[in-house]
This record gives sequence, C-alpha cells and structure tokens, in this order.
Amino acid sequence: MRIGVFGGTFDPPHVGHLLMATDAREALKLDRLIFVPAGAQPFKVDTPPVASAQDRLEMVRLAVADDANYVVDDAEINRKGLSFTVDTLEHLSERNPAAQLFLLLGEDVLAGFEQWRNPARIRELATLAVVRRTAAAGSLVDPIAAGVLTVSARRVDVSSTEIRERRRAGKSIKGFVPESVERFIDVRGLYR
Ligand code: ATP
Repeated sequence: MRIGVFGGTFDPPHVGHLLMATDAREALKLDRLIFVPAGAQPFKVDTPPVASAQDRLEMVRLAVADDANYVVDDAEINRKGLSFTVDTLEHLSERNPAAQLFLLLGEDVLAGFEQWRNPARIRELATLAVVRRTAAAGSLVDPIAAGVLTVSARRVDVSSTEIRERRRAGKSIKGFVPESVERFIDVRGLYR
C-alpha cells in the first residue's frame, strides 16, 4: 500500500490543495492520501493560523468528504505542544505498518528541510516527494537528489492568504474553495 502524507495549515483548504492532491496521487500511484492539518508549527509560532484548529480540521474534512481515497488525520491538532513532522510520521507508520509512506513537500519547503527536527529519521520513515508546480501535471520527473522524488503538479494560482484577504474585503470566494467549505466559512463567519 502506497500512502501519501499531505500536511498544511489549510486556513482554509482550497482548490489548489485539491488539484495538487489529485496530481500527486496519480504521479505517485498512491492508494491513499492522508491530509494532516497542522497544529502549532515550529517555524510559524509568531504567525498562528487565523481559524481555530477545530475549524481548520472540519474544513479539510468537508473538502475531501466524498472521496474514499482521502483520509484526514487529526494527530497534529490533538497533540499538545509543537507539531513535528517526524512525530506525525512515527504515528502514521505505526498505524500503517505495511505501507510505504510518501511525504509531499512543496519546493519552497525543501530548502529548509535540514533544519527540521530529525530529518534523517523522517527519510527513514518516508520517501520525500517534492511537488513542483508546472504547466504539465500529474507525472514523475527526474529526481533532484538521492532518495527524493519530484512530482509535477499543475500550477493553480490561489492561496489561503488570498482567500482570507478576499473575505476581509467582502469579495466572493466562489470557486476558490469547495461549496461545502464556502458554506462553513459563511456560517461560522470566518476571516471577516
Ligand atoms: P497561506 O497562503 O496561508 O500561506 P497556502 O495556500 O500556501 O497558505 P498551506 O496550507 O500553507 O496553504 O499549504 C500547504 C501546502 O499545500 C504547501 O506547502 C504547498 O505545497 C501546497 N499548496 C498550497 N497552495 C497550493 C496551490 N495553489 N497549488 C498547489 N499546491 C499548493
């Protein structure tokens, strides 16, 4: 079983995340993709998420709801203290002992990877899959380093930051997020 691990703040989750998930799933031939909404991120203590952890978790659940290939894991949100990827991977490999784990990483994130807690252990637990945003989507491209896969995913010019800014400005976010997420944001009055 090949399982992908997709961490993010998801504040809120948007169509860019979902299309990236589809492209990565195809390129890596994943049987399952686990979304892991971040708890307290070590490198972002000064800029915490805007929505609460429970609201972000709920929005990710709504975003992936009707797809059996996707799972949402609440380990980081329910764990106390800072969230370290190595702890999350230990937990996921214990729960899926027979699986090969693929850790999806944005190209931007890879630069700082060696500063993470225990990068050597992370590489033991999972294969790194760097997602490069390109025009051609959903394929494997040449590896950039030993033991690191590169996946091409289509470029979708949308970010959570832009969605929060549009909400604050009173603009529509239709099409930026799944309808279920849009309704949730409306009902909870998020990002106003
Ligand atoms: P923010 O604008 O708040 O920084 P974001 O939109 O970048 O948020 P995150 O939750 O930080 O969203 O994203 C988690 C991961 O999802 C990122 O590391 C990145 O690899 C990927 N990602 C984010 N936006 C896109 C997008 N538009 N297309 C493809 N992948 C994306």
